[in-house]
Amino acid sequence: MKINALVAQDAAQPLSSAHITLRAVQPQDVKIEILYCGVCHSDLHMARNEWAVSRYPLVPGHEIVGRVVETGDAVSQHRKGDIVGVGVMVDSCRQCHFCQQQEEQYCEAGFTATYNGIDKYTGDSTWGGYAQHVVVDQHFVVSVPESLPLAGVAPLLCAGVTVWSPLRHFNVQPGDKVGVVGLGGLGHMAVKLASALGAEVTLFTTSPGKGADARRLGASRVVVSRDAAQMAACQTSLDFIIDCVAAPHDLDPYLATLKTNGRLVLVGIPDHPHQSPNVTPMVFRRLSISGSSIGSIQETQEMLDFCGRHNITADIELIAGEEIEQAFVRMLNGDVKYRFVIDMQATRW
Ligand code: NAP
Ligand code: ZN
Ligand code: ZN
Repeated sequence: MKINALVAQDAAQPLSSAHITLRAVQPQDVKIEILYCGVCHSDLHMARNEWAVSRYPLVPGHEIVGRVVETGDAVSQHRKGDIVGVGVMVDSCRQCHFCQQQEEQYCEAGFTATYNGIDKYTGDSTWGGYAQHVVVDQHFVVSVPESLPLAGVAPLLCAGVTVWSPLRHFNVQPGDKVGVVGLGGLGHMAVKLASALGAEVTLFTTSPGKGADARRLGASRVVVSRDAAQMAACQTSLDFIIDCVAAPHDLDPYLATLKTNGRLVLVGIPDHPHQSPNVTPMVFRRLSISGSSIGSIQETQEMLDFCGRHNITADIELIAGEEIEQAFVRMLNGDVKYRFVIDMQATRW
């Protein structure tokens, strides 16, 4: 089936409207009319081949909310008319240790990404959510609490679960002192979710103007990370930090803010490596540095249900598809309040 999508033809050209062909609906598949798709910084990295893995043409988008319009014969989990979500994964091997443990994001064969992956039925690319429709195996489709405003739900599918997963995996508890680095798409969800879990949140930002927003979103302390005196004032005060920055930077000033046994979790994926941190304070305070990749389908559903109960969505700026390039520029400048979301129905293809 041919549909309209926003397509990157190569790393240098702006995204433009073009036709793509989706696979025919298989027995396990759900066909979704896309209502909203969030704009993740990963989409920008991929559209511009900043991780050197992009294959063109490429359709970005992995924060998808839409309505089920068709189901295959074997689909039991979703029905026509349901409001559903799709995140970063659309398939995995289903057999390895991690798939069996419901941790598909760590599939030993590598999960199939929502875009720039290989569709196992067609051998063609998978196409992302900057499009009118998507066809996805039911296992990778989650249910959206209908009490929530849907445009603000879209960013939960990547930004939300990417910060939720390490908060849960590393067992952050009420009262824990949690730092969040960078108030962008991921960072603002980390502030909201960590504070809803009862943590006391410190936001580190390079943008002094974001302080009032950070407090409104749930932070109790805001630190301008380029101000050495402010950084020095919070030495050894935190249990756990999530670093959501998309650019290479020095990790040592953040390690200095961790208490003994503290952990720094990196979720930002810069195009060039961070410089190696100084191990001496890590040794003497038994510090850990971890990475964390998105979250499982089960964690995505848990996070959505939690957001439904706590009335949490992303703070968004709604755009039409034609505005994507301006959105990318603002995102590069750290000027997003705090996630762009494409309204598919407002888009002129
Ligand atoms: P974003 O909205 O652009 O936010 C990034 C934030 O980082 C900015 O708002 C800014 O916050 C801060 N920042 C930017 N440049 C900086 C610099 N040079 N030095 C210090 N801080 C800087 O991006 P996002 O969508 O949240 O994504 C963040 C990163 O996570 C990207 O690399 C993305 O690819 C990655 N990601 C990873 C996963 C995963 O599974 N691990 C999933 C999704 C995305 P302030 O203005 O507050 O400083
Ligand atoms: Zn993403
Ligand atoms: Zn697997």
